[in-house]
Amino acid sequence: MSKDGLLVGVDIGGTTIKLAIIDDTSEIVEKWEIRTDKFEQGLHIPKQIWETIEQKLSELNIEKERVLGIGVGAPGFVVPRNGVIAEAVNVGWRDFPLSAELGVLSGLPVFIDNDANLAALGEVWKGAGAQQDNIIAITLGTGVGAGLIANGHIVNGINGTAGEIGHVTVEEDGASCNCGRKGCLETISSATGISRMAAESAAQHPESGLGKRYAENGLVSSKDVFELAGEGDEKAQRIVDKATSVLAKVLASAAILTNPSRIIIGGGVSKAGDKLMDPIRKAFKQTALARTTYECEIVPAQLGNDAGVYGAAYLVKQHLEENEK
Ligand code: ZN
Repeated sequence: MSKDGLLVGVDIGGTTIKLAIIDDTSEIVEKWEIRTDKFEQGLHIPKQIWETIEQKLSELNIEKERVLGIGVGAPGFVVPRNGVIAEAVNVGWRDFPLSAELGVLSGLPVFIDNDANLAALGEVWKGAGAQQDNIIAITLGTGVGAGLIANGHIVNGINGTAGEIGHVTVEEDGASCNCGRKGCLETISSATGISRMAAESAAQHPESGLGKRYAENGLVSSKDVFELAGEGDEKAQRIVDKATSVLAKVLASAAILTNPSRIIIGGGVSKAGDKLMDPIRKAFKQTALARTTYECEIVPAQLGNDAGVYGAAYLVKQHLEENEK
């Protein structure tokens, strides 16, 4: 890869598209975001992305020739080997040929992957997984996103569902999940799941701390649950225990498949810090094969919202370096 070459990382979300121009040494030259144009099932997004990149390059007086490629993360099921977004409900895409469209517009190599996978890859390049070849990175937000990195590379599987641990079934006949099934990990250990369990507990015990919080605000957020648990509220603690122990069990199973040296936890729920991490670490130790735990640290993510653009840029770097071999 040429030394003054630049990489563009793009992270498409249902509301905004984050972009960054990043150099070969993983330093951000510029980052910005735009609103996602979802008009006509996201048909115009490739054009929108290329136009904003062109405009930014011109503002910064960067010649297009310096840009080596564009990496793009999208939510949903992505099939990197043919450059197609199989399904991204938040954006409106179904069997959308993103690589081809953006490639034609830009004249540059385009590589795509799922956003959670790229967040994991970003942490490997620049964050909590730096210098690590085998990691599992999970994002606890409205859902439970996950990315698997094995031997330094994203594991995609045949049609883009590898590592989707948010949809491991953890409760027979449990709450309904976005995927159409019931009792997935996501229905318990995501912010949404924690908040749902809190609302159920509040309804049963209106006099409890959770019940009072619910009466005040009409909902109990996952932040509230961790806060109340920290204050010694027993019912809130029970929810934290459930969310963390179920998650740790799934992580223990996932860890035995890839033997990671780090499990990285990010997303909104991870803001609870040690109140979240400590019970996960404890339950993981109790559940996982002892040898798997010896060299597996459970650590917070470091890159926050930038993980996706770093990972997308690094995906380009990985591909180009492999082509040079
Ligand atoms: Zn599911």
